Amino acid sequence: MSEMFKITLPDGSVREVAPGTTPGDIAAAIGPGLAKAAIAARVDGELRDIGRPFEGDAQLALVTSRDEADALELARHDYAHILAEAVQNLFPGTQITFGPSTDDGFYYDFAPKDRPFTDEDLPAIEAEMRAIIGRNEPLVREVWERDKLIALWREQGESFKAEWAAELPAGEALTVYRAGKFLDMCRGPHLASTGKVDPQAFRLTRVSGAYWRGDQKNAMLSRIYGTGWLSKKQLDAHMLQLEEAAKRDHRKIAQEMDLFHLQSEAQGSVFWHPKGFVLWRQLEAYMRRRLDGAGYAEVKTPQLMDARQWEQSGHWGKYRENMFVVPDEIPNTDDAAAIFSGTADLMALKPMNCPAHVLIFRQGIKSYRDLPIRMAEFGCCHRNEPHGALHGIMRVRQFTQDDAHIFVREDQLVEEVQNFCELLDSVYRDLGFADYAVKLALRPDARFGSDAMWDQAEAELREAVLTSSLSDAIKAKFEELPGEGAFYAPKLEFHLTDAIGRTWQVGTIQSDRVLPERLDASYVGADGERHRPVMLHRAILGTFERFIGILIEHHAGRFPLWLAPVQAVVATIVSDADDYAHEVVAKLAAAGIRVETDMRNEKINYKVREHSLAKVPHLLVLGKREAEEGSVAIRTLGREGQRVMSLDDALALLVDEATPPDLRAP
Ligand SMILES: [Zn+2]
Ligand SMILES: [Zn+2]
Repeated sequence: MSEMFKITLPDGSVREVAPGTTPGDIAAAIGPGLAKAAIAARVDGELRDIGRPFEGDAQLALVTSRDEADALELARHDYAHILAEAVQNLFPGTQITFGPSTDDGFYYDFAPKDRPFTDEDLPAIEAEMRAIIGRNEPLVREVWERDKLIALWREQGESFKAEWAAELPAGEALTVYRAGKFLDMCRGPHLASTGKVDPQAFRLTRVSGAYWRGDQKNAMLSRIYGTGWLSKKQLDAHMLQLEEAAKRDHRKIAQEMDLFHLQSEAQGSVFWHPKGFVLWRQLEAYMRRRLDGAGYAEVKTPQLMDARQWEQSGHWGKYRENMFVVPDEIPNTDDAAAIFSGTADLMALKPMNCPAHVLIFRQGIKSYRDLPIRMAEFGCCHRNEPHGALHGIMRVRQFTQDDAHIFVREDQLVEEVQNFCELLDSVYRDLGFADYAVKLALRPDARFGSDAMWDQAEAELREAVLTSSLSDAIKAKFEELPGEGAFYAPKLEFHLTDAIGRTWQVGTIQSDRVLPERLDASYVGADGERHRPVMLHRAILGTFERFIGILIEHHAGRFPLWLAPVQAVVATIVSDADDYAHEVVAKLAAAGIRVETDMRNEKINYKVREHSLAKVPHLLVLGKREAEEGSVAIRTLGREGQRVMSLDDALALLVDEATPPDLRAP
C-alpha cells in the first residue's frame, strides 16, 4: 500500500488521500456544490491552484469567490496572462516580459515588434481577450528545468524572458503556466482555465511607456493597463468611482478655488495661495487646540542636521538616497569637487523629526515622574522622491507632518496608545470621517530586535485597540497585516473611507524601542537606575498637504463652513445697495467671518453662477429692498432658493455655522 497523505480541513476533520489527489478532488468528494464553487485552495496557508496535487500532509482551506481578496488577486493575474496571450495572437513577434496584478486590475509590459501600442489598439485586444475567455483554455502549471526553459525562450525569440531566467540560480526548477499555445513563466497560482474570469468584468484602460526593469538605461517597453473585477457590477461601480474621482480631483478643484499651484521649478513643493493657506491655517489651529488639550507640548527643531547625527540615528545607512544632502559650508568653485567627493562635512535636510525630538528629550535628566512626555511638532520634512512618483499635493517632496513623539515608561504604554486612539477618533469625527478602519502591521522579515520584543510590542498594540473606547463597529473591522510593520516596530494604521468609498491611510502610531537605544535616551526610574523609555511615533493627519488633498476630494471643494477659505460673499443687485453692502461686510468681518464683496456691475445670475463655481458657501444678495429693511437674502450652496432674514439673524446663523467643531458647546 502506498503512503497516504493526511489532509486537515478547517473544521478539524482529516481525510486520507492518495498521492496525486488535488484540492479540487477533495471539494468534489465533499459535494458537487463545493466542487463548482471552489476556485483555488490555501494549502498550509499558501494560495495554490485548485488542480495542483498535494505534496504531503497539509492543512487545506478551499477558496471560493466569496473570499474576495483571494478571488480578485487570482482573476487579475489571469487577466494579465490573457492580455499577453491576446497581444501575441494579434501582434506576432511581440515579446512578453512581466504582468502583475495591481490594486484595481493588472498590467503587462511588452516589447512590441514594430511600433509602441496606442490606446487605439485596446478595443481589438479586448475583443481577443474575450475570445480567449470564451474558449475556456485550461491554465496548466508545468515545472521546467531552468536551462531547458532558457533554450525555449531563446528559440521563441523571447530575449527578455531568457535574460530573466538566466539570472535565476542554475539548476532551479521554474514554474510555467500554459494556456493554449501561450506560455508564461510565473509562480502562479491561477484559476483552472481562462473561462473562469468574467468576460464583461474587465476593461483595458491605457497604454504607457515603461523601462525594462524600471531602469532608464534599458529598453522602453509598452505597458498596457487594465482594470479587472469578479463581475460586471463591480466593474461598473469602479468605473463610476473613477469618473466621480476625476470630478473631485484636488488639482482641478484647487484651480477653480484658487488654493495652490505646483510648477516644475520646485518639483514636489507646493505654492500655497492665500485661500489655500487659510484652509491650512484653520486645520493647523484646530490641531494645535486638540494637542494642547491632550497634554502635548509643541517644539520646533532644525531643518538641517549634521550627517553624523543621521548616521547615529540609522537614517544615513537606510535612507540616504531619499535625503537632500548639502555641504556644511558654501564651497567656492575650487572646493566643490572635493566637497562632493565626500571630504567635507555634509548636512541633510530632515526627512523626519524623530532624532531631533530625542535630542530635546536628552537635555537634562528625566525622571520616571516626568513621563509620559508628549512632544509635538508641525515638522516640515523633505524626502527626495523621484519626479515620476509625485502626484499633486498627495505625494510631494516637502511636507509638514502633524508629528509627535511620546516618551513613555513600559507600564504607561498601553494606556497612552489608548489615549491616542481616542484623540484620533475624535479628530476624524470632527473632520467628517466617522468611517475608518484600524489595522495592525506586524513584524517584517528584515527587522531589528528579538522575537520576544516583537511578541510584546504587537500584543500591546493589539490590546490597546481592543480594550480602547473605540466603537464596536470600528473594533469589529480591526485587522492585522502580517509582514507590514516598520523594520524597528509594529504599527497601528488608520485608514479613512472618503465620500466615494476610497480608503486613505493617514494616521499611525508605532511603539519603538530601537531609536531610544541608538540615540541613548534614558530616564531615572523609581529604583534610581537608568531605564530606556519607549518612543511612540504618532500622527493623526499624516501630512497637512495630503490631508488637505483628501479633504478637497472628500468634500469636492464644498468644505464645512469653518474650513471654507471664503465663507460668504456679499453681492449687490443695484448700486443703490453699495453703502449697505459695506455696512454688512464690516459687521460680518468684525464677527470673524471670512467675507468678500462683489459690487461689480453684473447681472445677479452671473454673480451667483461664478461664486457657486468657486464653491462659496453663502452668497448674501443685497438689493434696494434689503438696504431699506436692513435684511439680507441668503443663497446657500447646494440648497434651493433663498432665505430672507434680518442682518442680525444672518450674522448669528453664519457665526454659529462657522464655529469649529471643537469649540462648539457640547
Ligand atoms: Zn501568472
Ligand atoms: Zn518619528
